[in-house]
Amino acid sequence: MLYDDTIAAIATPPGEGGIGIVRISGRDALKILERIFVPVRPGRWKPYQMRYGRVVDQNGAVVDEALAVFMRGPRSFTAEDTAEISVHGGPLVVERVLQQALAAGARAAAPGEFTMRAFLNGRIDLAQAEATLDIITARTTTALALAEAQLGGWLSQELHRIRDLLMDPLAYCTALVDFPEDEVDPQDIETPLTAAVQALDALVASAQHGIIYRQGARAALIGRPNAGKSSLLNALLRVDRAIVTPIPGTTRDTLEETASLGGVPVVLTDTAGIVESDDPVERLGVARSRQAVRLADLALLVVDVSLPVADDDREIVALTEEKRTILTLNKIDLIDADRSLIAARQREYEQIRGKAFDAMVTVSALTGQGLDELGATVARLLLGAPIAADGRLVTNARHRDALARAADHARDALTGFQQGVSPDLLAVDLTAAINAIGEVTGESVGEDLLHAIFSRFCIGK
Ligand code: GDP
Repeated sequence: MLYDDTIAAIATPPGEGGIGIVRISGRDALKILERIFVPVRPGRWKPYQMRYGRVVDQNGAVVDEALAVFMRGPRSFTAEDTAEISVHGGPLVVERVLQQALAAGARAAAPGEFTMRAFLNGRIDLAQAEATLDIITARTTTALALAEAQLGGWLSQELHRIRDLLMDPLAYCTALVDFPEDEVDPQDIETPLTAAVQALDALVASAQHGIIYRQGARAALIGRPNAGKSSLLNALLRVDRAIVTPIPGTTRDTLEETASLGGVPVVLTDTAGIVESDDPVERLGVARSRQAVRLADLALLVVDVSLPVADDDREIVALTEEKRTILTLNKIDLIDADRSLIAARQREYEQIRGKAFDAMVTVSALTGQGLDELGATVARLLLGAPIAADGRLVTNARHRDALARAADHARDALTGFQQGVSPDLLAVDLTAAINAIGEVTGESVGEDLLHAIFSRFCIGK
């Protein structure tokens, strides 16, 4: 893998902004910086000190005024010599600065190449490198906290600990293969192997929650026209306005938005009135609702609590038969929280459905009452039992799969040992377990996988 050349990229998002940053990393970073940046006060570069000056082109003409900093490897993000040049945040000016860096000898960086270098240079392991992408793409505070914890290195440390637990038994088994049995001191390998299996199982189990927190889930809002689906969607988005972002590539008319519900990023699909129609079935949006429910992990049946059940409801309720569904009694403000009416409404809808709902919540999209409880209920149904929020969850399906394989191999070694299987076979299982762990930390991954992982990053990261 060629990675000792010098790369450059725009590190800030495209578009207009206060500042745009061009980042240069590699052994010629300082040379390139000196070629394209003229400090106002001449003198040698002191690492980690911002300097004011101008970016110039090959003819010495000024491109923009700038602040620049030089960082000496290994004390930089990539662990290589790195320069960062901050200029005015216009797309054209930032692009021109990048062009100067390329003309001065840098190569345009591939997506994620800075982070890949940090990994290849041993500054962070692969799980930490992937965590930096998760930080950038996090859509809820919980997902962000999990990614920050992973970058902090708890997973890497835990995997090293487990690896060490497997190393001693492996050394022992290898010794038994290489030397006659009476020359090798007997060793307890059951205790470390049992501990390794337990620790791997715990990590795999944590992924059930972790993956939902990171990847999110889908919920479909269904119900009669005017039940308040759109109002509810908007109200749920307002609960945590700051962290709500539209899904890239979609617009508001697809009626899909991501909201943070109990810390879980949930894509809410509103099936309300996309098409105007005289056909009663189409007006109800049954076909669209069916599709939305099919794709969703959860359905929210939204009901106007002040109105009796109508014929229209039957078709919609029938869609929820095989999906976990929250009966969401909306417009609670209209009935003054009348307990017996709520209970009656719940019974009526349960009767049509032919069974109980997985949960029932009363809300008012108008006043905001009950929205927190609705969010918590959605999260509870998606996650199952509540979990300790210590940030130690495996959040990545790739990690989960590799660790599940590691657990299986370690378990095979343990039971094999207990059944007197020969040490050479035990060594095969132990090596496979250690290699599977290495797929998460990056110690045993091929170039193809690395490129696949880092190509999901943006350029400049
Ligand atoms: P949809 O057709 O199911 O999407 O329903 P809308 O969200 O368009 O709401 C239909 C009507 O009910 C609108 O006039 C809303 O202002 C009103 N509405 C929605 N939620 C509430 C609520 O909680 N309380 C009251 N009083 N009115 C509501």
